Amino acid sequence: MQPTYSAEADAYREKVQAFLAEHLPPDWGGTGTLEGDALDRFTEEWRTTLYENKLLAQSWPIEYGGAGLSALESVVLGEEFAKAGVPSGGSNDVFGIQMLGNTLIQWGTDEQKAHFLPRVLSGEDRWCQGYSEPNAGSDLGNVQTKAVLDGDEWVINGQKIWTSAGHLADWIFVLCRTDSEAPKHKGISFLLCPMDQPGVEVRPIKMISGESEFNEVFFTDARTAKENVVGGVNNGWAVAMTLLGYERGESAATMPIRFKAELDRLLLLAKERGASDDPVMRQRLADCYTKVAIMRWNGMRTLTKFLAGEHPGPDASISKLYWSDYHKVITEVAVDILGLDALVPTGRKPSSAFQADDPGAPNSSASWTNTFLNARAGSIYAGTNQIQRNILGEMVLGLPKEPKPA
Ligand SMILES: Cc1cc2nc3c(=O)[nH]c(=O)nc-3n(C[C@H](O)[C@H](O)[C@H](O)COP(=O)(O)OP(=O)(O)OC[C@H]3O[C@@H](n4cnc5c(N)ncnc54)[C@H](O)[C@@H]3O)c2cc1C
Repeated sequence: MQPTYSAEADAYREKVQAFLAEHLPPDWGGTGTLEGDALDRFTEEWRTTLYENKLLAQSWPIEYGGAGLSALESVVLGEEFAKAGVPSGGSNDVFGIQMLGNTLIQWGTDEQKAHFLPRVLSGEDRWCQGYSEPNAGSDLGNVQTKAVLDGDEWVINGQKIWTSAGHLADWIFVLCRTDSEAPKHKGISFLLCPMDQPGVEVRPIKMISGESEFNEVFFTDARTAKENVVGGVNNGWAVAMTLLGYERGESAATMPIRFKAELDRLLLLAKERGASDDPVMRQRLADCYTKVAIMRWNGMRTLTKFLAGEHPGPDASISKLYWSDYHKVITEVAVDILGLDALVPTGRKPSSAFQADDPGAPNSSASWTNTFLNARAGSIYAGTNQIQRNILGEMVLGLPKEPKPA
C-alpha cells in the first residue's frame, strides 16, 4: 500500500523544489490567487519556462524533446507541482501532449513523430479531441463521421460534439468511419485534421455555469492529407483505445493533494460562516474528510502498483467513480454553507470547468457555486459512472456481462 520513495526520489524531489523556488515569485500562493489576463499571462509564461527546461512532456522520451522521467520521477514532479499550485502545461496540453503525443510515440510513423511532436511542444499546434458524436459517446464504436480518400487527401463529413477547448485548437484528432461495410470496430480510422479551413466549423456550447469550454465541430468536405492517418487505415479502434488509456491514467498522485487543499478551504469556509458548530453540518464535513482520506489511500494503492511497473488496469475505474461522486457531495455542502449567497455568486470564479478550483483560490461564493455546477459533469466526461460500474462489475469483479440490446 505504501509507495516507497527511494533516496533517488528524495534527491529528485529536492531538485524539483529548487526549480520551483528559482522560477516562481517569492510570495507565490498558487494559480488561484490570479484571475483574468494575469492568470492567462502566468499560464503562458509558465508553459514557456517548462518548455525551455524540457519539463513540458514529462513522460516522453528525451529523443522526442520530453523530460524522459522515470515513473517515480513523474510522480514526484506531479506531487510537487500540485503542492506549489502550478499547472503542468497550458490549456490544450492535455490533448496535445498527454493524449496525442504519447499515442503518436506508440503508433505514429517516423515522419508523423518528426513533424508533429516538436510543434506540439513549441505550442505551434494546439490540439483537441474529436471522439464523441450525438449518437456515439459511451458507445464510441458507433461513430458515423465519414472519411473518404480522394486522391492524396481524406475528405471528412460529419459532426463531433462536446469538443473541449476546440475553440482554442488548430488541429483535431478525429475518429472517422472509413469502411461502412466492415464490423463497427473494424472500419474506423484515427485521422489528424487541420481546423483552420472552410470545411471545419466550431460552434461553442453554453455550459450550465454560463461559460463555453466545449463545442460542436462540423465537418463539411473538410480535407486532410492522406498520410495523416495514425496506426493504419481501419485500425483506428486500437489507436483510440491507446489514447483513452492516457486520458484516464496517471492522476493518482496529484488528485488527492488537490482535493485535500479544496477540503481545507471548505473547512475554513464553514468556520468563517459559523457552520462548523452545527452538528448536522459537522457530520457532513466529517463525511467529506473521510472520503478524501479514502481517496488518498486508494491513490497510494494505485501508485504502489504503478511504481512496481504495473500499468493502470480496469481498477482505475474505482478512482474515477469515487472522485466524481465525492465532488458532487462536497460542492453541495459548500453551497448549503453559503446559503442565499450561493444564489448571487460574487468574487473570483474558477479558471476551468474541470475538478477543483485552482490552489490558493479565495473562498468566494462564485468559486464554490461554479465548482458545484461543474462537478455535475465529472460523472460524464472520461467515461460515465454507469460505464465505470460496468467495467468494475465485468472486468474487476468478474460478474456476468450486461445483456446488450438486440
Ligand atoms: C465536460 C465534458 C467535456 C467533454 N470533452 C470531450 C472532448 O473533448 N472530446 C470528446 O470527444 N468528448 C468529450 N466529452 C464527451 C464525453 O466523453 C461523453 O459525454 C461521454 O462519453 C458520454 O457520452 P454521451 O454524452 O453520448 O452519453 P450516452 O453514451 O448517450 O449515455 C447516456 C446515458 O446512458 C448511460 N449508458 C450508456 N451506455 C450504457 C451502458 N452500456 N450501460 C449502462 N448505462 C449506459 C450513460 O451512463 C448515460 O447516463 C465531454 C463531456 C463533458 C461532460
